Amino acid sequence: MIRLSERVSYIKATEEPLSADVGLVFGDRCLWLYDVGNNPLITAELRGIDLPKAAVLSHFHPDHTGALADISAKRVYLSAYTKKYIGFGETVADDVYINDGAELHIFLLPSSHSKGALGLETDDFAFLGDGIYSMQKGGRAVYNATLLKDTLDCLKRLSAKTFLLSHDPQYARPRGEVTAELEEIYSRRRKEEAYIEVRE
Ligand SMILES: [Zn+2]
Repeated sequence: MIRLSERVSYIKATEEPLSADVGLVFGDRCLWLYDVGNNPLITAELRGIDLPKAAVLSHFHPDHTGALADISAKRVYLSAYTKKYIGFGETVADDVYINDGAELHIFLLPSSHSKGALGLETDDFAFLGDGIYSMQKGGRAVYNATLLKDTLDCLKRLSAKTFLLSHDPQYARPRGEVTAELEEIYSRRRKEEAYIEVRE
């Protein structure tokens, strides 16, 4: 587990098996998880923390949600789209604010990568999961131009100074650096094209 602040930590993503990073926010009553990963070693580490758990699911992909059944979270927050895959939980349809010692802000994150993405903001950090990533289309990595604009507008409304990005070796990255990269991609959009190609 890697500590980012008094209340915020994370457990690193793995590639075999494929598992996203798990974000941890230590509240006064609950341990809040942003994604639950999909690796038995991570699950064991989480189960070893003796606090009631609540989970916020970034999106439906199994590397982010696969371990849910083994975590015994007493509350699960997800988007309506993710709920189609998971089958239960509290649907987040707009901003949700929770005070558990830590101030939590769950928000809808428009995303090219996946429908129904959620972010979680707390304590100067914003967990973004895979939400700001591109999608694959015909073997190319692309952004949907309209969605990318919505992603950028959403990020502008956040107050966090550090963005936390799943699968990124750096994980915690300065907000300005991340938005500058996305702005650069958005600046290359062409009127007649719905998608913007990502340069390798
Ligand atoms: Zn994903």
